[in-house]
Amino acid sequence: MNSSKKKEGMMKPENGEKKISRRSFIKGLSIAAAAGSAGLVTGGCGSLGNTEEMGLKWEEYFKKNYRLMSQKEKDETVARLVRLAKMKDDRDIQMSNAEPRENVLYGYAFNISRCKGYMDCVEACVQENNLDRKSKTQYIRLFEMDSGQLDPTSGDGKYHHEVPVADKFYMGVQCYHCENAPCIKACPTKATWREPDGIVVVDYDWCIGCRYCLAACPYWGRRFNWGTPEVPEEEINRKQHYLGNRMRMKGVMEKCTFCVQRTRQGKLPACAEACPTGSRVFGNLLDPDSEIRFVLKNKKVFRFKEELGTDPKFWYFMD
Ligand code: SF4
Ligand code: SF4
Repeated sequence: MNSSKKKEGMMKPENGEKKISRRSFIKGLSIAAAAGSAGLVTGGCGSLGNTEEMGLKWEEYFKKNYRLMSQKEKDETVARLVRLAKMKDDRDIQMSNAEPRENVLYGYAFNISRCKGYMDCVEACVQENNLDRKSKTQYIRLFEMDSGQLDPTSGDGKYHHEVPVADKFYMGVQCYHCENAPCIKACPTKATWREPDGIVVVDYDWCIGCRYCLAACPYWGRRFNWGTPEVPEEEINRKQHYLGNRMRMKGVMEKCTFCVQRTRQGKLPACAEACPTGSRVFGNLLDPDSEIRFVLKNKKVFRFKEELGTDPKFWYFMD
């Protein structure tokens, strides 16, 4: 893939700072070179603080797609992003590039007879994943349904009242991490793919914002950043993963990652941990002793729109 496909957004400082085009960036580099390595960069590159920052941004701009990087390049990439966050926003972050673990394939099951619609999962997901507060982006949508319905499109995804409500039940919908994912096939830049542990991820720096994946997903699993995501500084989750909750930029796609920054450290996803009713079951499908395997073996499970052949790794069940 030629690096020329990459978006100007890569060079764009967040929070309304002046946009830097590829042209002005290269011009700034020439000025820096002329000024020598000691001085601050001035002129057409006002938001580049110094030559180190400019060099880091240069390397960042021309990096490979994450899928094609060697382990050394991945390590250098996250180190560079950590350094840039410190230089640009004086923010100390921990960024992981933890790889999928051997013999792990993640799966999720949602107990529709237990969920009471409290939305603790939604809130936990927003906090954990640094979701844009301005647009009120959510990865999870909870639908309030009438008895007998099993299709969330016929439910109410915008209820605002006390829960639970008699004779209603609740169904959570998020990215299902499909094994045969139409979103992946639709992406023209290979910016989205399925990892060996089953997590469907996005390299935000390779997304060109065409939104083909969003259109291809039959489950409303993807979210597009129409603006630069805004998270109050004191609420930013600083424990991040390159493919997960690191700060996104305007014009790129994002989605549930099964909380890759948590699950590859052996923790539950934030939604499953936050659920007060135990409706959310997450685990390793390859482990015969896992709770998810117990659910699949012993409960009546179903998958949404199974007839599409997308093979979601997300099931619904009842007690
Ligand atoms: S639910 Fe949608 S976004 Fe998630 S993997 Fe499936 S097709 Fe892709
Ligand atoms: S697994 Fe993580 S990212 Fe996905 S819906 Fe749950 S909290 Fe959000």
